[in-house]
Parts: sequence; structure tokens; C-alpha cells
Amino acid sequence: MTKTVRALGLFSGGLDSMLAAAVLRAQGIEVTLICFVTPFFGAERARESAAHLNLPLRVVDFTEKFLPLIYDPPHGWGRGHNPCIDCHTLMIREAGAMMAAEGFDLVFTGEVLGQRPMSQNRGSLNLIARDSGIAERLLRPLSAKSLKATQPEVLGRVDRERLLNLSGRGRKRQIALAEEYGIKRYPAPAGGCLLTDPGYARRLKELLARVGEATRQELELLKWGRQFRLPGGAKAVVGRTQRENEALLSLKTPADFLVKVEEYPGPLVLVGGAASDADREAAAGLAAAYSDAPEGTPVTATAGNGGPERVFHMITPGKERYKPWLV
Ligand code: SF4
Repeated sequence: MTKTVRALGLFSGGLDSMLAAAVLRAQGIEVTLICFVTPFFGAERARESAAHLNLPLRVVDFTEKFLPLIYDPPHGWGRGHNPCIDCHTLMIREAGAMMAAEGFDLVFTGEVLGQRPMSQNRGSLNLIARDSGIAERLLRPLSAKSLKATQPEVLGRVDRERLLNLSGRGRKRQIALAEEYGIKRYPAPAGGCLLTDPGYARRLKELLARVGEATRQELELLKWGRQFRLPGGAKAVVGRTQRENEALLSLKTPADFLVKVEEYPGPLVLVGGAASDADREAAAGLAAAYSDAPEGTPVTATAGNGGPERVFHMITPGKERYKPWLV
């Protein structure tokens, strides 16, 4: 009796990764999915798509291993702050270690030749395969016929004839294949990784230029609110909605200050613990400017972090004044 072939697939939950899994499953290969998460990339889409495919999914947080790549990726960043070549390489290397430890036969991805200019051209695919250390057992089912045959194909454990030769950026064939494989729900292309989001990437670059290496809290904070760099160098984050105010509360460290206006509804403003008194006063101005207090109205703002509160009396400034500080 032939032993079942077991494949471990990198899975973002996007259509390409769904198709790659479906193509292998259609050959009778036992497919397990794995989604690597970081503060920039979650598993929500992967969970939904794996459930739709009815395939088992593992979610692995590999933040500690990934973080060095946002500081100094050997192969650089994409248009945002996304080190895609090194990120792919790391994920495949990690999956390769699981393959070896757990007796999987191969690792597969949903990469498509020529789909992304930086990370999915032929040179990058080869580079990623080589640097992952598992080139022989790394299968890209969607473009396999246009790539060098891997060991499972050569050994006949995977039927190369039933793999695909997709290439380029078009999605027509993928959409037709989704229909063929009974995939009815799949997410819109792109999105999902904050490092490719221009706003987040800009904030992250600004932060790293100052601090060199960021804490997990600083990375999480970049996701929320309006962000201002105060004249003394502290960061102030102004919540825009109730949900953002709650997020700021949950991310506050004991050292951070929360600033709010007393007499009018308004945002919470979170200011980093190292803020000077002048920066806390500037944050009080921000809290007033973004509150419901009409410009020119006298208000009181408080800044506290558990100890005695600092109280600021002021005339509500206009928002315009703070634009130059926006990150
Ligand atoms: S888009 Fe983000 S998660 Fe995807 S490979 Fe690039 S850096 Fe990694």
C-alpha cells in the first residue's frame, strides 16, 4: 500500500493559498495548513478560508523571529515596510523544520510566478527556495509546471501533470479555478499585512528612525488613532472613536499618561511615559483641540498615570495648529 503523502502549506487565507491547497488535496494528498502571525499580520482570513476548505489550520506566532526583519532585512523592503523576500524565506524555513520534525513530505506555498514584482519573480522564488534550506521539497503547486521539478514530483509522490502553470498578475484563471474547486468564498486580493499599508509603514519608519528598535506596545499603538510627534520628542496618540479610546486604554503601560478634557466629551490622548512636562501640556492642547469644546473656549485638561494628576487650564486651540506634528 502506498503511504499517504502529507503536505504542510503556508496559508494566508487568500485565494492563491486556498487554490494551492485545493490542487494538492484533489490528488489525494493530506494537507495541513499553517499561518504565521505577527503584530502586522493576523490569522482571521486564514481561519475563515481554512474553515471554508474544511482543512486543519495551525496558527503560529513567530514575532520574535520575524522582528529583526523589520530593522534590517537582507533583501530590503517592498513599497511599504514589507520585507517580503526574507519573510517568505523565514516562514518556509520554519515550516521546513516542522516538516522534518513531524514527517511531512513537503512544504507548499501559494506563490505564483511573476505575480509580485519583488518577491515572486523567478529570481526571488529561486532565492527564497535556496535560502529556506528546503528547495528540494518546496512545492509551488500554482506555478510548478513552469519551475524546476521538486523531489516529490520526481519521485512521483506528487503528480506534476496535475499541477498548474499560472504566471503573472492576472486573476482570471484563479477565479475560474476557484469555481472548479468549489471555492465560493475568498477574500479580495491584497490587504492583510500592515507592513504594506502606506499609513502604517510611514508611522513605523518614523518610529524606527527615532528608537532603532520598537517594543511590542509601540508597534501595536501605531495601529490606532491620530499620531503626533510632540516638540519634545514624545508620541501622542489621539483616539478617534470609542473603540480607539478603548484600545489606547488597553495598551497603556503604567508609565504612560492619559490626557483628557474635563468639561466636554472628547478623545483620550495617550502620551509616552518619558514625556516632558512641556509635551504633556502640548498633549493637553491636543485633547482640547480634538474635543467637542468650541475653539476659544476655556477648558481644563488632566494628565494622569495613576499618581497625582497634572491639571492644565487653557483656551481651546484650533486643530490646524497641530497639523505639522502629525505623523
Ligand atoms: S506581505 Fe507581510 S506577511 Fe506577506 S510576505 Fe510580505 S511581509 Fe510577510
